[in-house]
Amino acid sequence: MQDVLTPAPLLPRAFLRATGFGAITTPWGVVYALPERIGDAGLAAHEAVHLEQIARMGGARWAVTYLWYLLRYGYRANPLEVEARDRLGVA
Ligand SMILES: [Zn+2]
Repeated sequence: MQDVLTPAPLLPRAFLRATGFGAITTPWGVVYALPERIGDAGLAAHEAVHLEQIARMGGARWAVTYLWYLLRYGYRANPLEVEARDRLGVA
């Protein structure tokens, strides 16, 4: 599953460094990860759930919904993040 992670180019990498995240899933289905996180199976599995959400909802609707939930609930309680954690059995 680790092939879902693509090494992040300059701008996404700067975003990841600034926010402290290891990877970001884009609405167009590319998952950018910090170079040192490529091969991290747990991270890949988490991002793969977001890819399934995109397949289910469509990229535009997923992105708008994700941002709305982020503003409404914050990162941890974002229902799309809760689903990703629940599906992987991570608290
Ligand atoms: Zn996530």
